[in-house]
Amino acid sequence: MNEELEVSAAGAGKIMLVGIGPGSVDHMTQRARAAIAEADVVIGYVTYIKLVADLIEGKEIIRKSMTEELDRAVSALEAARAGKKVALISSGDAGVYGMAGPTYEVLFQAGWTPDDPVAVEIIPGASALNSCAALVGAPLTHDFCAISLSDLLTPWPTIARRLDAVAMADFVVALYNPKSGRRTRQILEAQRLFLRHRRPDTPVAIVKSAYRRRENIVFTTLDSMAEADIGMLSTVLIGNSNTFVRHGLMVTPRGYANKYDMEEGGATRDGERAGRSLSTGLLGWLETLQAEHAAGDSIDTLAARHRLPADYIRDTLAEPVEIEMAAAEEGEA
Ligand code: SAH
Repeated sequence: MNEELEVSAAGAGKIMLVGIGPGSVDHMTQRARAAIAEADVVIGYVTYIKLVADLIEGKEIIRKSMTEELDRAVSALEAARAGKKVALISSGDAGVYGMAGPTYEVLFQAGWTPDDPVAVEIIPGASALNSCAALVGAPLTHDFCAISLSDLLTPWPTIARRLDAVAMADFVVALYNPKSGRRTRQILEAQRLFLRHRRPDTPVAIVKSAYRRRENIVFTTLDSMAEADIGMLSTVLIGNSNTFVRHGLMVTPRGYANKYDMEEGGATRDGERAGRSLSTGLLGWLETLQAEHAAGDSIDTLAARHRLPADYIRDTLAEPVEIEMAAAEEGEA
């Protein structure tokens, strides 16, 4: 083996993208703490560096502001090229509206590849949606998505289109970056778009500074959420059409009630079987669709009824329904 290469590999630096979770030491992973402890250089937004003050004594610290993300990635690469281990700190998860993306972009631009002596490690952390959900109950137990209302780097029509699409598709939504001193109207526009598809009394939870000193939780509804105190450190959780609040807890049903009678000790409902798709699952639904079509419903009528594209209905009707007997769904409810 080439000795020179071996030496440079041994002395090569490393970039660690560390997600530290919501902002309390208890909610950081062991690996996140170890990565910071092992780093020579720690780079991050001042607030997050303060959160790990106990771990960084004697280290080189580069404090950067919010708007200097690319600079942070460049500084990280420079230090790593010089053989240092660099921890880039993000709140939550580094890959969720965090430093992971910009860092790879800067690295690629500098000609970095995964074979480079500079190693890159991404250390996952609990994102704001995980932390905030845990504090309000179980709002994310069914399909959900995250949308950032920040238009600093994303055109508003793109954000608005996504809000409209997920509001219509009945996702539970976590809104990141909902409001700041300068961006106050975005949350109102989001509310306007959601009210076109969801009931005014749809549950909304606003969690500010989850697991931090000024933690504050407010339960409200879609039509009055704009009156609540929302800021840079808030995440707004909007329920889907089934989400409810009981005893101060926001819960989105997993769907067990579709299959089991929750009042009758959990007996399986007529026509449903444990471990199998619902009667309105894919195969059952296809049978219904075939029957409705055979009875004279047009493709357009079916498309409107099920709120699905007509070409999808057409293609699907053209394929015969195969009954799958495989135990592929083993372990499911
Ligand atoms: N990488 C982070 C998100 C950074 S974007 C993560 O994975 O969580 C910044 C936004 O995250 C804030 O505007 C807020 O919406 C949300 N956020 C981050 N920390 C939070 C906390 N402790 N409590 C509530 N929301 C938080």
